[in-house]
Amino acid sequence: MALRILPPVRTLVWYRGKDLRVADHAPLRDAAASGEVVPLFVLDPYFFAPERARELPHRMQFLLESLTALAANLEHLGSRLVIVAGRAVDLVPRLARALRADRVVAQRWCEPFARERDRRVAAACKLELFEGETLAPPGSLRTGAGTPYGVFTPFSRAFLGGVSPAPPLPTPRKLPPVPPDVLAAFGRGDLPRLAAPPTLADLGITRNPALQPGGERAARERLKAFLNGPGPRYHALRDRMDLPGTSRLSADLKFGTLSIRTVWHAAADALAGDARTRYLGELLWREFAHHTLWDRPTLLEQPFRPDFVGFPWRDDATLWDAWASGHTGYPVIDAAARQLLGEGFVHNRARMITASFLTKHLLISFRRGEAHYLEWLTDGDWAQNDAGWQWSAGCGCDAQPYFRVFNPVTQGQRFDPEGAYVRRWVPELARVPTRWLHAPWTAPPLELAAAGVRLGKAGSYPAPIVDHAVARARFLALARAHLGASKR
Ligand SMILES: Cc1cc2nc3c(=O)[nH]c(=O)nc-3n(C[C@H](O)[C@H](O)[C@H](O)COP(=O)(O)OP(=O)(O)OC[C@H]3O[C@@H](n4cnc5c(N)ncnc54)[C@H](O)[C@@H]3O)c2cc1C
Repeated sequence: MALRILPPVRTLVWYRGKDLRVADHAPLRDAAASGEVVPLFVLDPYFFAPERARELPHRMQFLLESLTALAANLEHLGSRLVIVAGRAVDLVPRLARALRADRVVAQRWCEPFARERDRRVAAACKLELFEGETLAPPGSLRTGAGTPYGVFTPFSRAFLGGVSPAPPLPTPRKLPPVPPDVLAAFGRGDLPRLAAPPTLADLGITRNPALQPGGERAARERLKAFLNGPGPRYHALRDRMDLPGTSRLSADLKFGTLSIRTVWHAAADALAGDARTRYLGELLWREFAHHTLWDRPTLLEQPFRPDFVGFPWRDDATLWDAWASGHTGYPVIDAAARQLLGEGFVHNRARMITASFLTKHLLISFRRGEAHYLEWLTDGDWAQNDAGWQWSAGCGCDAQPYFRVFNPVTQGQRFDPEGAYVRRWVPELARVPTRWLHAPWTAPPLELAAAGVRLGKAGSYPAPIVDHAVARARFLALARAHLGASKR
């Protein structure tokens, strides 16, 4: 009997921007083990239309650098990244048919709009989703009653008791070249031409040299620098806004230049004691945010706590501008606002203080802050950002209770004790002595004059836009009235 030689399986590996790596990439490994591999990236106007891209300038810069690095890494392995422009929901099934791909593989996303995209693509071609964004598959952890967790501590206990994250997959040593008939098909019939990644200039975005560099290599270096540097003292340093005590890996985890499994295992192996527990604990807060959004896809529109629906947030353009531009008169709040615009990052403690200030002191909706952060953060992530904002406003999953209102002065004094964070981002106050730095309005006028500050005068640092005690009492009264009324 004559042997029939079957043609090799042809797989489109659809990179979607949250998995920009060759290391520990399950869809790529799987495709490479089964035959021909076509790595694909679609420049979807949902993100890459210039008017959309300009709404996320820092994320776009990091993404484009990471995409360019991915293309180089794939070439190094013998393959290449096929980049085309078009609407992914139409284009991916069309490419699968035209290129005679047997299957399309990709890493799962948790967001509701992404799930809808994947549902539509899967209805039109053979799409297989692989895990990789989280350590455990979203939806896999359940309480004894079979419901999703709504509180972090039992979630993390269930995770640590029942999940052993698999070790990262090795990077393929070599990949097969993209078949010539695939490359020849682009630009023919109804297939678009091959494209190059757009430049920032194409999208009308000015490069910000203060951002972290994207790409897998820079990510690996950051991980190494953290574990060999502040990592062993993470538990003691992580809340200090003035010190580089955290890993700064959030954008890498967001864009997948490092896999979460790689970071988990590297930290679990390199760290010990409290540093290990705290660091892995923060990775589990990330996990919790993604699982929560998976189980409750309405969170991007509705607060987790139903009694917060209809909360009487206020719209005040002057207060908003002061908060967003870093001119509230509260130094730590202003430092955070300016750090966000300046380097696309904000220290976690500063995110918490400033989100609390916007919602509780200024009574402006957490949704406005959430959107502003998504616009300017390099690590802007739907699940984690929404969880952070809802936590801070008091309406989220396992949130800070609404009646805890951070005092921006004492928080500054505690977590920026020498004032280096404020001095770096609010240079108008650089010469104010430390004892008055976090509350400059309490300094004797002569001290302020000697430091070159004319509080509240044009061109100098503003006086506080609200009084902490008054604003706190106002929020608590409003919240009690609203939450009390919604219980009735
Ligand atoms: C209002 C607000 C908005 C936020 N928005 C985002 C966001 O858009 N994207 C984002 O990645 N994180 C967000 N966070 C969480 C946290 O502030 C950042 O992940 C962290 O500051 C990133 O710095 P790092 O990588 O040095 O963190 P590390 O302290 O080194 O922590 C390691 C990793 O754990 C995860 N992590 C740490 N803290 C948290 C947390 N509280 N919740 C969830 N995951 C956490 C991150 O992936 C982080 O990279 C937000 C927090 C708040 C309060």
